[in-house]
Formats: sequence, structure tokens, C-alpha cells
Amino acid sequence: MEQCGCVERELDKVLHKLLGYGHHCERSLGELLRYVRHMREELGAAALQGAPLSATLSLVMSQCCRKIKDTVQKLASDHKDIHSSVSRVGKAIDRNFDAELCGVVPDVVWESHEKQQQLLQLAIVEHLYQQGMLGVAEELCQESTLNLDVDFKQPFLELNRILEALRQQDLRPALDWAISHQQQLLELNSSLEFRLHRLHFIRLLAGGPDKQLEALNYARQFQPFARLHQREIQVMMGSLVYLRLGLENSPYCHLLDASHWTEICETFTRDACALLGLSVESPLGVSFASGCVALPVLMNIKAVIEQRQCTGVWSHKDELPIEIDLGMKCWYHSVFACPILRQQTTDSNPPIKLICGHVISRDALNKLINGGKLKCPYCPMEQNPADGKHIIF
Ligand SMILES: [Zn+2]
Repeated sequence: MEQCGCVERELDKVLHKLLGYGHHCERSLGELLRYVRHMREELGAAALQGAPLSATLSLVMSQCCRKIKDTVQKLASDHKDIHSSVSRVGKAIDRNFDAELCGVVPDVVWESHEKQQQLLQLAIVEHLYQQGMLGVAEELCQESTLNLDVDFKQPFLELNRILEALRQQDLRPALDWAISHQQQLLELNSSLEFRLHRLHFIRLLAGGPDKQLEALNYARQFQPFARLHQREIQVMMGSLVYLRLGLENSPYCHLLDASHWTEICETFTRDACALLGLSVESPLGVSFASGCVALPVLMNIKAVIEQRQCTGVWSHKDELPIEIDLGMKCWYHSVFACPILRQQTTDSNPPIKLICGHVISRDALNKLINGGKLKCPYCPMEQNPADGKHIIF
């Protein structure tokens, strides 16, 4: 963070200078324009009289030309001064950050294959769509000649349209969507539709006694959810008693909490993404954040490996030289490390459950076979290696 602070300080200096230069430019050019306009009026007046150009006027004109030249030159040299500040930012970046990343990633990453480039572009476009930056995504698609299916964009466009409406506290598009996907949402154990109806009901309650009849009629929408959300429905019905007094002055004032709107956006994003087969968080964003955590650790390890002159230790294939903890947020699935070989299992070397119940990796199992028989290294039950079962976590 200290390094970021250094670069930021230099950046602030540049911004400050640029801002000052902008004001200065406006002021000098405005002054110049006024001067030239005045000059033109004088010339026009002289031309109207049909008199030849007087010596005074021609002197004033040449003065005006010189003034224009001087101002422009001064502005250009001031602009040049800013260049040095800009280059100081570059130097601060070089000084504070390690640009030598080649050592911590396989060389092939830097080789520019068309296929890889396209994959990267696709990931960026997907990220932009996911963040709701539709215009930027479209522009990048055009510039990179990436041909995306309408089917690819459609879910993002729909999601963004509904989310945008929700942020404006317009429930209709989200409700229409939830009703049209009712069955699938139920299968996901989602309470999205109920929450949307609930918010609509609360909004009616906030309208006071005038909306009482409408609210009561709307309460019929809760019927299919009576079993699962009984308690919440009771609370809403109880709040009707305070309609005349105003919900904000009642024990039910928490129903008006603005946080319900933030929550509904989160619930909608989570459930809609699950239903549409999209990840809630952008894969590119997650990769980038993980890289920010992992890179400094890897750079340190690289330095240690080089110091001890054991460069062969890290082959860069599919594994890292050490385990890097990215935090609970990045735990997506369970992993299994073979207790015999002390290696994490992979698709090509999956965990195998022996008939005694102990689990080891396939590579370990193959190594332990002796004369067509396998002796469990733990219990030690003798068994047929073919009886081991592939386990999927
Ligand atoms: Zn065993």
C-alpha cells in the first residue's frame, strides 16, 4: 500500500498542475480573444470610413500579432513543464513496483496466440457486461472484431435491465421475471418472488390509510408462500393495525428500512445468476483479485529460489511452489490431498476410496500394488485394487 501511496502522491501533483494549467490557459486565451475582438471592431470601424490604414492602427496590429505569438509560446512552454511531472509518475511506478513478472508465470502466457487473445477479450467483455457497462462492452466487441452470439449477451442485458429498474425502486420488471421463472426459482429454494411481493406490499402500506384496500387485496399474492414464510406474513398483517398512525411511528417501522432495497438487488442477482448459469461475481474480477494477493507471495518465493540457486524447483507446469491462502471468499470447492504422496488430487490423479473406507490418490494406489494385490497403508486390509471407487468431492 505504501507503494501505491507514493505513486498516488505523484499523480496528485500532475493533476494539480494540469488543473492549474487548464485555468491559466482559459484565462490567457480569453484575454487574447477579447483583445483580438476589440482590434477587429476598430479595424471594421476604420474600413467603414473608407480611410486608409493609419500608422497608429498598423502599429497596434503588429503589437497584437506579437502578443498572440508570445501567449501561444508561453502556453506551449508551460505545457512542456508538465511533461516532467508526468514522467515522474512513470519513474515512481518503476521504482515502487516490480515489473519483472516473467519469472512467476509460464512463458507461454506472454506468447500472443490468437486463440488466447480471443479468450482474454471474451473474459473482458463478459466482465463489462456483468458490471452493466454495456456500451463499453459493445465498443470492445466491435474494435476487437469479437463475434458474440446474441444468446451470450441476452442474459446480461436482461439482468441489467431488471437490476437498473430495481435500483430505481421499480419492482415490475423483477416481478414479471420472477413469475415467469416461478417453477425454476422454487426448485432453487429461492424466496425472490415472495420478497418482491413483500416489498410491493410494504410500499402500499407506506401510502397510508388511502392504500388500505389495495394493500389488503394485494395480500392475496402471499397465499402460495403462506407455509414457507408464515412468520413474515404475520408481521406484515400485524402492521396493518398501525396504518392510520403511520408505519414510521409504529413498532413495524423496520419494514420501511432502505436496506430491503439493497437486499432485494443482491437476492435477485444471486438467484437470477444461479438460474441463468452465470457466476454472481465476474470471473475476471475474481482472477484479478486473486492475482493481487498471490503475486507478491510468488515474487518473494522467486527471489528466494534465485538466491539459493535452486531454479529447477519450480517447473511452472500446473502447480505453484507453495500454497497461497486466498481467503474463505475464494473457496469454491473442496480439495483432497493424498495422505501418502502429500499432493493435491487432480482430474488425472483423482481420490480413490478403498473398500476399507480409507482414501488415497490413484497414483499412490498404483504405487502400492504388489503382485496384483493392494494392502491399505492404514488398516492394512488386503484388497483387489480394482475395487477402489473414484470419489468426486
Ligand atoms: Zn484401510
